[in-house]
Amino acid sequence: MRWSRALIPTVKETPKDAEVASHSLMVRAGMMRKVGAGIFNYLPLGWKVVQKVAQIVREEMNKAGAQEILMPVLSPAELWMESGRWFVYGKELMRLKDRHEHDYVLGPTHEEVVTDLVRREVQSYRELPLCLYQIQTKFRDEVRPRFGVMRGREFSMKDAYSFHATPEDMVKYYGVMRDTYVNIFTRCGLDTRVVIGHSGAIGGKIAEELMVLADTGESVVLACPDASCGYTATDETAHGVVTHAEADEQPRPLEKIHTPGKETIEDVTAFLKKTPAQTVKALLFRCDDKLAVVFVRGDRDVNPAKLHAVVQGFEIEIADAAFIESKKAAGVVPGYCGPLGIKPEHLLFDETVRHVVNGIVGANEPDYHLVNFNVSRDVPDAQFHDLVLQVKGDGCPRCGTPMVTFRGIEVGNIFQLGTKYSEALKANFLDEGNAEKPMFMGCYGIGVTRTVAAAIEQHHDANGIIWPRAIAPYDILLQPLAVDNADVARVTGELEAALEKRGYDLLVDDRDAKPGFKFKDADLIGIPLRVTISPRSLGEGKVEVKRRCDEKAVLIPLEGAVEKIIETYHTCP
Ligand code: ATP
Ligand code: MG
Repeated sequence: MRWSRALIPTVKETPKDAEVASHSLMVRAGMMRKVGAGIFNYLPLGWKVVQKVAQIVREEMNKAGAQEILMPVLSPAELWMESGRWFVYGKELMRLKDRHEHDYVLGPTHEEVVTDLVRREVQSYRELPLCLYQIQTKFRDEVRPRFGVMRGREFSMKDAYSFHATPEDMVKYYGVMRDTYVNIFTRCGLDTRVVIGHSGAIGGKIAEELMVLADTGESVVLACPDASCGYTATDETAHGVVTHAEADEQPRPLEKIHTPGKETIEDVTAFLKKTPAQTVKALLFRCDDKLAVVFVRGDRDVNPAKLHAVVQGFEIEIADAAFIESKKAAGVVPGYCGPLGIKPEHLLFDETVRHVVNGIVGANEPDYHLVNFNVSRDVPDAQFHDLVLQVKGDGCPRCGTPMVTFRGIEVGNIFQLGTKYSEALKANFLDEGNAEKPMFMGCYGIGVTRTVAAAIEQHHDANGIIWPRAIAPYDILLQPLAVDNADVARVTGELEAALEKRGYDLLVDDRDAKPGFKFKDADLIGIPLRVTISPRSLGEGKVEVKRRCDEKAVLIPLEGAVEKIIETYHTCP
């Protein structure tokens, strides 16, 4: 491809809304353009990379015995009502009506559609196991689309669904998928970790996530540093041991004290000369239409995913002022909320509260707190749960070693669904004894477009992208300087023909522009190998070769240049 004919509109400036390198670089390298919030055009360079990732995914899925299909984006609401998700998916589900006022869904994921297909087509244990997948556009009305294609409202996903006669077979195939996923991301040139994940809206019990290690990742992962243990989990899922100071004081009588304007933990502890760990703070959540008040030790936070598991709601978010006002009857006074005398729909205590001796709590009265709160004495029927958000330094739940944290980007996940969808949609089969049973299912997702962004997060420098060879938009960039020089044009043409004949995908920067401009653009778009043909190097009978991952270029003789270029290309990461 000749750059002068290609649509690769590179730009100098970082887009205003770009918070992470991959977003900025995808725009600057002319890979994609925003159409609306969370919706994008993929330009030729960007689309080539998406296709390369998709092809690796396809090859590895096929190797694992999965079969590619294509399901529709649009699906009738009835299927979603049958599974129950129509009622619980919340605002992320894109719903629309057709001209007959029938409800439809723009698929965010396809468990319903695939289970409907399989229940119609598969009847016997003889036809199982079966794994079907597709690579297709998904729609989700994300609360906060951001980071470019990393969290879009329309994005490309590979979603696979497997069907089994026994739970053992489901678990076995889950293991195959786990290996397949590790191979896929390794082939893409990404450094990933498999971590224990959270099953969220999809349901099911066992889930793992594939994380690309990146400081800008939205996910926080807690890991046991003891390699023989290896516990690794997202902060949504992680359990752990929270340390607490042994108090050597006896419980004292409760006392109400005037704390005017001291609404935050910082203010009240400074005022009463205590530490946050000597307080019990209230966090208020809206769980669907119910108010949940959760108490946790003042220096810690609540993990909404753990709360989700306890209250079994669907949408959980921090309660806003209007919602709290609508629940006035609960008696909660924001800023001064304490556990005594309130009546929310859910009143829960995290385990950490057990160890607070003579703590400070709100008095449910403006400008007042209670001191000397001891939960076992003051709330004898308190319900305790593990609701705390685990942090660095908490003990590993398996071996107790203090855990470390890192950030990651979730590029894929695998779930053991069990019979959640097959029971709801009656996807049954006849077993060897002719008994009718629900199929066991697994589901496995990969964010194809997110993987492209994650690859850039992991592989870039101050000047631009450094594509791993396997997913680069082009293999080699031929860069003639002084395009109207006859020797330069001739050598460029010869190298182009020879390398193309050998099967390499080339971009030739034939634009009539200054060398500095071309070098900058070459670094920005990140093709693994650059071959520069200039009158000066040709004068010495040489061309210049530079791997994008290296600082320096090397001059190689024209004689045997094709072999040397190919050899160097294959040493690129
Ligand atoms: P997240 O926690 O990031 O919202 P999720 O748990 O909702 O992800 P899944 O429903 O399991 O994700 O989707 C499978 C894969 O699709 C994810 O692992 C991720 O790579 C990708 N993905 C999910 N949401 C988006 C999005 N809004 N934009 C781009 N890719 C996404
Ligand atoms: Mg999500």
